[in-house]
Formats: sequence, C-alpha cells, structure tokens
Amino acid sequence: MRFGGIQKTSTIDFPGVLSCVLFTRGCDLNCFYCHNRELIEGIGPEISEDEALSFLRRRQGLLDGVVVSGGEPTLQPDLSQFLNLCKGMGYKLKLDTNGQRPGLTEQLWQEELLNYIAVDVKAPEAEYAEICGVSGFEKTRETILALLKRGAHFEARTTLYPGLSIEELEELLSSFPVLPLWRMNYFKMPEQYCPTDEKRLKQPALTPVMLKEALPFLQRHQPNLAIEK
Ligand code: SF4
Repeated sequence: MRFGGIQKTSTIDFPGVLSCVLFTRGCDLNCFYCHNRELIEGIGPEISEDEALSFLRRRQGLLDGVVVSGGEPTLQPDLSQFLNLCKGMGYKLKLDTNGQRPGLTEQLWQEELLNYIAVDVKAPEAEYAEICGVSGFEKTRETILALLKRGAHFEARTTLYPGLSIEELEELLSSFPVLPLWRMNYFKMPEQYCPTDEKRLKQPALTPVMLKEALPFLQRHQPNLAIEK
C-alpha cells in the first residue's frame, strides 16, 4: 500500500465511528475541483504500509475505525490484504471510492472486509468526462447497483461543483434507484488546481438557499438526501 497522508482522528468521516483516515496515493480520475492534487500527482512524502500499520497498532483501543480514502484506494493491488490486517486488529473499516472498480468493491463487501462504503458520484452521465476526465458514469452506476443488490451499508456522495445546475442535479438523482443515503457537499475552492481550470472553478456554484428551495423536487427522486450544513 502506498499512502500519502494520515489524519489521526476524525469524528465525521465514518458515521458513528471514531476513526483515523489513511489517504492512498494515485487516482485514475482527475476532477477539476480535487482537493487532494498532491495525492493524485504523487507529490510529497510517502508513508509506508509498515508506518501506517505501526500507527494503527499504537491506536488500538483508542480508535474504533479506519477510513481508507484517497486518491483512489481500489487502485492499490494489496488493498484486500491491508484491510484484513486492520480487521485483525479489531478496527471497523470504511472505504471511500470513486466507483470505478465495481467488481472489487463488491468483493470486498462480500468478504466482510468493509463495514461501510462511500461512493462518489461525480456528475450527470453527459458531463462525467468533462468533470473528472473519464467517462466513468456507468462504472459508478454498476458499483452502486451491486452494493444495493448485496444490501451493503453505503452512501453516495456528490460535490456540488461550480457550474452544476439544479436541473442537472435533478437529472443525476433521477438516474439511480432510491439510495439509502446520498450526501451533497458544497464546493470549496481547492488550494492547488490546474491554471487552465481557474475559469470554471470561479463559475457560480449552488448555494444553501438554492438547495433549500429545490429540495422538495430533488427529494422526489432521492428522499434520503443529506445536505451539508
Ligand atoms: S476521485 Fe477524488 S482523489 Fe481522484 S481526482 Fe477526483 S476528487 Fe481527486
């Protein structure tokens, strides 16, 4: 496993579980609003698997869970073995994924290596490639349908990126069956970004007032929406 960062304690990343967050290096998407550009570009100090495991051993009994985030954790060839080691230490496990490897994500759930999964749904199908560099809508949809079929504990997450309209958001929500939870996060300007993206990063983004007004329409498609406070 290749890590690029550890957040030692979090009360918000794993619902109901006091956890740490391990950030893996590398990602196969390139979202224009990404806040982890140093991870996707592999810049900055690397944390070895041994260092991460030694940290987790020291925190046994103090933390209850581990969130494996990124970058994109499912790109790491030894993810399953690593989750097994964490599970052996008694930790509950959450995976944050961009949804591009449905088979692996389903398999990890089936093997009882995960307690919770967050799947990013980046944009409506027609916008996917423009927003994150890859036409990944179908893979994401496949991941979510597989998790639904398995009765997995999971949520979908969408960042309300600049330029996304209420109509496009409604279209996105309506293109999935009703999900157990779909979290909407407001856009925040990243510290690092590609200079060529500056113009679109500065486009208007949806605001809390706009979301509040549109909520009844949005909830017709997804009643279990959670909007960041
Ligand atoms: S999937 Fe996540 S880590 Fe990868 S580019 Fe998009 S926001 Fe960044």
